[in-house]
Amino acid sequence: MSQSTHVFHRQLAKRPPVAVSGQGIWLRDAEGRSYIDASGGAAVSCLGHGHPDVIAAMHRQIDQLAYAHTSFFTTEVAEQLADLLVGSAPAGMSHVYFVSGGSEAVEAALKMARQYFVEIGQPQRRHFIARRQSYHGNTLGALAVGGNEWRREQFRPLLIDVTHVSPCYEYRGRLPDETPEAYGQRLVAELARTIEELGPDNVMAFVAETVGGATAGVLTPVPGYFKGIRDLCDRHGILLILDEVMCGMGRTGTLHACEQEGVVPDLLTVAKGLGGGYQPIGAVLAQGRIVETMRQGSGLFQHGHTYLGHAVACAAALAVQQVIQRDHLLTQVRDRGAYLASRLRHELGDHPHVGDIRGRGLFWGLELVQDRAIRQWFEPSLKLHARLKSAAMEEGLMIYPMGGTVDGRCGDHVLLAPPFISSEGEVDQIVTRLRRSLDRVV
Ligand code: PLP
Repeated sequence: MSQSTHVFHRQLAKRPPVAVSGQGIWLRDAEGRSYIDASGGAAVSCLGHGHPDVIAAMHRQIDQLAYAHTSFFTTEVAEQLADLLVGSAPAGMSHVYFVSGGSEAVEAALKMARQYFVEIGQPQRRHFIARRQSYHGNTLGALAVGGNEWRREQFRPLLIDVTHVSPCYEYRGRLPDETPEAYGQRLVAELARTIEELGPDNVMAFVAETVGGATAGVLTPVPGYFKGIRDLCDRHGILLILDEVMCGMGRTGTLHACEQEGVVPDLLTVAKGLGGGYQPIGAVLAQGRIVETMRQGSGLFQHGHTYLGHAVACAAALAVQQVIQRDHLLTQVRDRGAYLASRLRHELGDHPHVGDIRGRGLFWGLELVQDRAIRQWFEPSLKLHARLKSAAMEEGLMIYPMGGTVDGRCGDHVLLAPPFISSEGEVDQIVTRLRRSLDRVV
């Protein structure tokens, strides 16, 4: 296959394999090698590849209408998708704003929060509070609320000032004699102190991933943590923005991860699994009062991108979500997720370099450590995550390893997010290949 020298890749020094086809949970490259997509790319491909119903829906939409700019028109397919999303959303989340991906969703949510406070006459509210070791996207607003120092470092002069508090990171944060509930309340108290320091009337929103994803492996919240945060936000009129770009749309076994926490945010961002990778699409789900404020005030949400509500993207997402409902795939996520967890624990639970295995549904993270007894990370200069990724690709396995640090707070992690349609046999292969990959590098 001919190779262009003009496109440049993230890793500037090397060219990745050329992907040519995909079927189910498998991808093939131009050399004929097959890979199990055990991470759904970056927790995107929830239905796997080549799903005929999604492809047919996209074809039908292209034949009818590919694109109409949203400043002139809406489309039937965008309205249908909005109805489906609101129909299955947490209480009060009655409106949807479409965008083209996760970072765009976060940017839109941040600006919605700001505009809401301007329109209710509280323009002095200009601070966001977010969490360390989080990831909310790579655009400047999203990077500012994000807490991945390695990604932020060189762009810091361009970022708005955001206050970061501790994440809910039980493996490293909970004290030996502390219950998970007490740990959660300690974190809520830390947030309360931070709000007091900034002045409660100056804070717009607290931003968090319901289940952390792309920075410190999968970080699951302890019981009561988000309820405490919700109460605190309500007490001070602060919005709760939950970012479920990675952990949402069924990935953790319920459509929205916040359902398992018993909280409803004011703004909820989704992307990745919304369109399952068939088209770039994301969305912000919003509480009715936020949208009503803007409707009755300025009448305009002062934000937008050219491709928002793209008709083919909406058609793809509508088909993906209809397949998930029709085929009861959330049940499958829970069942297959339990199986994946048991296989991981059985095969890797006592591995000397696997410190922690944690997750929900089909969203699992492994934290890699040099020394299990003292939970010590590997030296960042070893670039373990990068070497593991290469070893896994040689084993025909796509995993999403992460590492990279400037402040010693990241360590090396592996994220698994296989498609919801994975069979038990495929899960077995994922775990076997992961074990072999790990043994090649540590
Ligand atoms: N928010 C979260 C929680 C994410 O995990 C990501 C991407 O990994 C984003 C936002 C950014 O999404 P995108 O890469 O589609 O811009």
